[in-house]
Amino acid sequence: MDPFSKARRIFIRRISGYGLSLALLAAAKPALSKPLTALTGIRISESAEDHTRVVFDLSGEFEHRLFTLADPNRVVVDLFDTRESDAIEISRTSTNLMGGIRSASKDNGRLRVVLDMQGKVRPRSFALKPDGKSGHRLVVDLHATNLSPTPIETSQKERNKRKEQFVIALDPGHGGRDPGAIGKKGTREKDVTLSVARKIKSIIDRTPGYRAVLTRDADRFITLRNRVRKAREAEADIFVSLHADSFHSPNVKGASVYALSLSGASSEAARWIAQKENASDLIGGISLDDKDDLIASVLLDLSQTATIQDSLELGSNVLENIGKVSKLNHPQVQQAGFAVLKAPDMPSILIETAFLSNPGEEKKLRNPKHQHKLAKAVFSGIQNHLKNRQA
Ligand SMILES: [Zn+2]
Repeated sequence: MDPFSKARRIFIRRISGYGLSLALLAAAKPALSKPLTALTGIRISESAEDHTRVVFDLSGEFEHRLFTLADPNRVVVDLFDTRESDAIEISRTSTNLMGGIRSASKDNGRLRVVLDMQGKVRPRSFALKPDGKSGHRLVVDLHATNLSPTPIETSQKERNKRKEQFVIALDPGHGGRDPGAIGKKGTREKDVTLSVARKIKSIIDRTPGYRAVLTRDADRFITLRNRVRKAREAEADIFVSLHADSFHSPNVKGASVYALSLSGASSEAARWIAQKENASDLIGGISLDDKDDLIASVLLDLSQTATIQDSLELGSNVLENIGKVSKLNHPQVQQAGFAVLKAPDMPSILIETAFLSNPGEEKKLRNPKHQHKLAKAVFSGIQNHLKNRQA
């Protein structure tokens, strides 16, 4: 096997963990030394008129690539070192998007599955490991590409005018089966974020003109998209996601504040952190926010740009106040493509309160007194921002 092909396969394995489409990757030429993985089932379901999900059940680990063909529109899924099981089970509900499905064994143990589409689609794929209920799976999400932008019914200003109260959505990161980062002493990110969020909420609810909602108030799993949905249902004016970071070096420390970036992360580290936080949805066994990578071209308009500007201002107010009670890792608001910050009309920030991988910061973050200071700092930042904006 040539060294390039090996490197490519490792690369494929690495990026497929992040749910990225492999459409642009060249084929890997696998060796035939190991036994073939069996494709045991294909499940096709429609979750919305413009969204069909195809789940491939496999007997073991696999590598795949995916690409589209036009005239007629097809999605091609190649599974390497894979054969079709004799007892393959196929289930499908009727879908608007998909026509037939075919498969054929190709050279070198490559199994090719072709999905006939009724129109142009944008496929996204990701691999899932066995989770007790199901085994290895490849999930392919197909979205119709003729989406029209979602209208934003009420602008932020109109909402503020008829409201006498600011609603702040507080989003404690992670939860349930997703613990987030874990410190040396066993401190779990999902626990500290919840207790800091509760402290901010109680400060906010005691302040006239302000009200807080939590996206979760228990140790349970909630998808990134549902976090945003909850905030929007509460007509939140501001969305604040709370996290605690970890790094392989225990010396790295300090808080950071992030806003959404449309055009890539402001630093390599920012992108890396965004990937880690976004991976939370994969732990839950579902795709990332399906507006993810094309959001810039499909959904976004000027209101998003204005919202990001607002988020950056909110972020620097909060950062300034956190700087009074904690060391900062970055003195400026960072930008990256966090899925949880993508509401187009709600200024949103993500706070990495500290590094759980730093023993000193882990200790501080567990301390209720420090949590309270942090909570007060976050709210002061929010208040400053809203006062400046009204002025
Ligand atoms: Zn986190």
